[in-house]
This record gives sequence, structure tokens and C-alpha cells, in this order.
Amino acid sequence: MIWNELLIRYGELSLKGRNRSYFVRKLKKNITAVLSDLPTVVLKSERDRMFLLADDPRDMEQAIERLPFVFGIQSFSPVAKCESTLEAIYARAIEVVGSGETNGKTFKVEIKRTDKTFPLDTGELQRKIGSHVLQKFPGLIVQMKKPDIMLLVEIRNEGAFLTANIHYGAGGMPVGSNGKTLLMLSGGIDSPVAGYLMMKRGVSIDAIHFESPPFTSELAKQKVIDLAEKLCFFGSTVRLHVIPFTQIQQTIADKIPENTSMTTTRRMMLQIADKVRAEINALGIVTGESLGQVASQTLESLTTINAVTATPILRPLIAEDKLDIIDMAKKIGTYDISIRPYEDCCTIFTPSKPKTKPKLEKVNFYESFTDFEPMIDEAVQNRAIYDIPLKKDDLFDDLL
Ligand code: ATP
Ligand code: MG
Repeated sequence: MIWNELLIRYGELSLKGRNRSYFVRKLKKNITAVLSDLPTVVLKSERDRMFLLADDPRDMEQAIERLPFVFGIQSFSPVAKCESTLEAIYARAIEVVGSGETNGKTFKVEIKRTDKTFPLDTGELQRKIGSHVLQKFPGLIVQMKKPDIMLLVEIRNEGAFLTANIHYGAGGMPVGSNGKTLLMLSGGIDSPVAGYLMMKRGVSIDAIHFESPPFTSELAKQKVIDLAEKLCFFGSTVRLHVIPFTQIQQTIADKIPENTSMTTTRRMMLQIADKVRAEINALGIVTGESLGQVASQTLESLTTINAVTATPILRPLIAEDKLDIIDMAKKIGTYDISIRPYEDCCTIFTPSKPKTKPKLEKVNFYESFTDFEPMIDEAVQNRAIYDIPLKKDDLFDDLL
């Protein structure tokens, strides 16, 4: 491993005016959490960039693998350090440029010289290092504008620092920098992607899942725990609330006309979610709903379901096509878990002809014959809570 440190750039974060130091502190905390099992890693943050140092090359390697998934990082570059002598810089330059493909690639050397005592001036240094590298790698083509490989040599008082490749980060904002929401996490394809997108905008999440044992199995719950674990890995831990929903679903099946039962089911879920949300001081509820996907996701249905609360319901996938959502799910590593075949509570009680345009007055009327409130409170109280930790190594392996 030739790299001594990583230079981390924030992008959008550096635009955030007076809040910048808050965002940078959050980012530092999240990076520290993701790398907490690597003993030699040290982070130093500055106004518009951060440096990561690691004495153990294995720690540096792991850091390079994990940073692309941390929200709030625009890009980062591994940096190789050496003495400020021409011989040492030559040798390092060859190692740095040679660490990637060179044949047919365009190339340029850029010099930044803050140590004014260095004997050669910028132009001389650029020519000398450039021709030395070109001799070694004759497949390179010199190009001044937008080269594939830009070898940056920075001569500072503490030594010379060389970097050539930029690794792109996940972008977005540090998780936790924009407040907290409650994600309704089913075992399906959509809701984990919705959670991912909210996390990308800096929102931290708790997750809530409704299960109806014995109609739903332990394996269905495990699927949701595994999905929550995948989400953790984008920079924060997740608390999962599992709600016992059997009694309410059976009551709905008994008391509500079949074609309206789906609407009432969703309304009960939302009321329970809203109570949990208030308890955990979250400011919104996130769902994986996408317009027109199923009967409960028409504008009329969403309106009737939404009428049980004034809390903001955030639906990041509302205008996405299913195929695009599937692509995202594959990219973030949740797809293979989501397609495991276990039934969730909605699939089991799905009516054959759910109403696509349920009217609020009618639904209110049907629900008025049953006192759901105590059942809702009981479900909230009897929930199981799982704290899903940040898990490392093997999860990262599947994504690379
Ligand atoms: P998904 O792939 O997320 O399951 P879906 O297309 O299957 O979505 P629905 O089953 O209609 O759609 O669910 C819509 C949204 O309602 C889900 O994205 C999720 O946010 C929430 N939801 C549905 N079932 C559950 C559940 N058992 N527990 C928690 N939330 C749920
Ligand atoms: Mg579903």
C-alpha cells in the first residue's frame, strides 16, 4: 500500500454557510463510526476538507473500500507522502501513476508549491516530473485539459504529497444532519430504497414493521431485520420497531367490508406509526409508496389513508418507475433480500377487489362501528424493539 493519507472533499457541504461546521462535525462522527474497528485511523477536519491518516496499510485499504458509501462525501483521493527531494518525488510519482492503468490514458502533472525554499520552480518541476513519468510509461498521452490522470504534486514544509486518482463518494448529506423520521419498512422492494434516499439527504431513520403471526413467519421478520442492517451501513445505526398487528387485521377482516379493508388496514398502520413517531420525537413518516403501483397508491387512496394524521408523510419514490426502483435496490444491495419469498401481513389479507377510489366518508362510516383505539394503543405498547448495529466487512464485500 503506497498511500499515507486520504484527502476527503465535501462538495455540497462546503456551501452550507454558517451551518457548515455542524455538517462537518456530523460527517466526522459518521466516518468515525463506519471505521471504528480500524485502530490506526485518525481524522483531521478542516474548513473544506478532511484528512484521514492510518499507520496500518490494512486500515487504509478498508477505509478506501468503505468511504464511497458514506453520505456527505463528494470525493476522496489517496495521497502518497515522501521527502521533498527530486529523487524521492520521482520514485513516488512512478508508484502513484503506476497504481492504475496507464496505456492510452491522457496525463498531466500539476504542481502546488507552498514550501518556497524548494530549489526548483513550479515550471521546472512540472517538466522534470512529467518527462520522468512519460519515460517510464510510454503509453501515456500528455493532455492539458481534462486528463484521465492528473498527477498533483504538492510541496509543503512537511514533505511532498502526491495524488492521482479521485474516488467518487456517495454525495448527499451526513446522516443525522437533517433530523429524524420513521420509515415504514415492509419486506418489499420499495421501502428500503425510500429509506436509502431519505438517508442520502441527511435524515436519520428509525424503522417500523407490522407483522401478523402466525400468518407471517419468523423468516419474514428476519428479512426486515436484514434490510435494516443493509441500511445501517450508509452511515448510521437503525432502531427497528416491530408491531404485533394480527388482532387488528383479524378485526378488520371481521368488521369492515372486504373491498375497503385494505384502506382501513393502511389507516390503522399509519395511526400506529404516528404514535411511535411522536414517542421517538421524529418529524415525519417515510413510505415506499409510488403513484399508481397498487390500489392503495392512487391519489384518492393516498388521500383517504392520509386523513388520519397531519404529520408529513414523505414518499421519495412517489414519481419513480418500478424498474428504476429495482435498479436502485440492486445498487444498494437490498434487492436480493427483498425478493426472498416470505409473505408479509398485507399480502395475506389482501382482498380480491380492493377499492381504488375509497371515499373518506364511507371509510369513516364503516370504521365507526368498531373501537380500534385500544387495539392501536396495545399494539404500540407491545412492540418489540431491535437495535441494529453498524455491521462492517462482509456487507461491504457484497457491494463492491
Ligand atoms: P414495498 O416494496 O415497500 O413493500 P409495495 O409496492 O409492496 O411496497 P405496499 O405493500 O402497498 O407497496 O406498501 C406501501 C408502503 O406501505 C410500503 O412501501 C411501506 O412503506 C408500507 N408498508 C406496507 N406493508 C408494511 C409492513 N408490513 N410494515 C411496515 N410498512 C409497510
Ligand atoms: Mg409491500
